Amino acid sequence: MDSFIAVLKQMSFEGDIDSSEETKTAYSHDASLFELVPQLVVFPKNETDLRRLVVAVNHARSQLPNLSITARSAGTCMTGGSIGESIIVDFTRYFNKIEEVRELSARVQPGVFYRDFEKATLEKGALMPSFPASRELAAVGGMVANNAGGEKSLEYGKTENFVNKLQVILSDGKPYELRALNWEELGAKYHQTDFEGQIYKQMYQLLEANYDKIKAAKPHVTKNSTGYNLWDVWNRETKVFDLTKLFVGSQGTLGLVSDINFRLIHDRPHSGVLVCFMRNLDNLGEVINTVTATKPASFEAFDNYTLELAIKFFPYFHKTLGWGGLVKLGLQLAPDAFLLFRGIPKMILLIEYTAETPEEVKQKVHTMRQTLKPFKLEAMEEDDTEAKAWKFRIMRRESFNLLRKKVKDKHTAPFIDDLVVPPPHLTKFLPELRAIIKKYGLLATIAGHMGDGNFHVIPLMKIEDPKERAKLAPAMKEVNDLVLSYGGSLSGEHNDGMIRGPWLEQMYGKEIVDLFRQTKKIFDPNNIFNPHKKTDASWEYSMSHIREHF
Ligand SMILES: Cc1cc2nc3c(=O)[nH]c(=O)nc-3n(C[C@H](O)[C@H](O)[C@H](O)COP(=O)(O)OP(=O)(O)OC[C@H]3O[C@@H](n4cnc5c(N)ncnc54)[C@H](O)[C@@H]3O)c2cc1C
Repeated sequence: MDSFIAVLKQMSFEGDIDSSEETKTAYSHDASLFELVPQLVVFPKNETDLRRLVVAVNHARSQLPNLSITARSAGTCMTGGSIGESIIVDFTRYFNKIEEVRELSARVQPGVFYRDFEKATLEKGALMPSFPASRELAAVGGMVANNAGGEKSLEYGKTENFVNKLQVILSDGKPYELRALNWEELGAKYHQTDFEGQIYKQMYQLLEANYDKIKAAKPHVTKNSTGYNLWDVWNRETKVFDLTKLFVGSQGTLGLVSDINFRLIHDRPHSGVLVCFMRNLDNLGEVINTVTATKPASFEAFDNYTLELAIKFFPYFHKTLGWGGLVKLGLQLAPDAFLLFRGIPKMILLIEYTAETPEEVKQKVHTMRQTLKPFKLEAMEEDDTEAKAWKFRIMRRESFNLLRKKVKDKHTAPFIDDLVVPPPHLTKFLPELRAIIKKYGLLATIAGHMGDGNFHVIPLMKIEDPKERAKLAPAMKEVNDLVLSYGGSLSGEHNDGMIRGPWLEQMYGKEIVDLFRQTKKIFDPNNIFNPHKKTDASWEYSMSHIREHF
């Protein structure tokens, strides 16, 4: 590595280069159950540094064949996407400028934290609505590369819907702009004789030759982050060709994102949430259909295990809310104690409406409550507002963090953490899922995006115990089989990385995964970007890098 560092310095790399043990250890984890210790962490200052880095890696490859580049923004990936055994490129130190925020678009660097970006957009009355539950922790580069989604994705869709343009560095070390091209523009790129021309030509040929097969492979769910999004790149009807669709969600395996141009939406200033307790899940499918027909802004849920955990570790919330917030939370929960004493509900539903005025919100919440009356749910008072429902929203958003931080003798094991099943099947699916969880003796909470049928199931396990570890493959296989039998997807928003990459063939079949592999090869023929993730992942490699220390 010393010789590589010397090359970088010779090339006048302006950013920081760090190979200290302390830094390498700090970058050996993300929020997944894996551990990969890098050899080097670099903090590029500008786009030229990124170019220098890629060129240097290409040159040094003959001496150091395993040299590779893993991009990292905030490092909250749950799949092992932002860790690697070679070079980590951290974007948060210098690529952290909010360059421009306009009424309905913004230009921003990938290392900007979403929380800071949101403050800047809200000042203009605008929002980038695909923020994840990790909104306080994640950066926008990782949101783009994972195709993140969250509570507002039901109404607005995921990050893929909000990217106008991307500036990227590809495997030849040069910068390119990706955006939607019309037929004439595509033709011009196609006839270029350089690397960019080669990419457009090969991608067009691959997509055109396999057009029907690729369109048919698109999962029939409202959100998907698995595989490469080949189906939305080329449209024969509109003749639009858009490589941003492919890059979003590609987890840094095709190149590095150095700049993002986001589309924003006008933020509706008022919102209210109807909270319902379900004592059994018998009518769940019908309830979901009834709610989603009214187009709520979000429709979230968490189960009895999550609620029990939140009550058990109640003081934890001071970390997010401060002591004042904790007291407020306690006071607000007091009236609900009455309902909870009658038995912990199986599922808590949060149905949110947004509007331009408080009156409009009240009306929508009221109408929803009336409409749900025949289902005999335990709905709360109908003048509920965002402020009143805030306590449940906090529990939902913090559910995973709570597990990560609080239960010390066991650790969160995200491996069936992001499944999606079309909502009409949930009444049957959820008890079957619980039966598998029980069969493997897993302690797991279920929380997620009810309207999309997207659930986060995060078991707590002593993963360093070989007996516990041995459960991963069979439990995952059974859950995947179940999800796929209902026409679902293995990941709605967290992506593949090291954990779901090995299962892509189970979901898509070999033929489609071969098209994914060809795509990777077109962009990154020497596999310098983020190896062992997505189509390059193998179960053996992933399992041999499970975290040993927590
Ligand atoms: C408590 C918790 C809750 C979560 N909830 C959600 C949720 O609701 N929805 C959701 O979608 N996710 C969720 N996640 C996962 C994760 O937080 C999100 O996917 C987030 O968008 C990742 O952002 P990041 O900046 O941390 O990315 P990182 O972890 O740094 O990177 C994620 C991936 O993007 C790649 N990448 C990063 N920067 C670049 C770049 N500049 N160029 C190319 N590739 C790049 C990395 O290589 C990696 O593969 C959650 C995680 C936690 C810990």
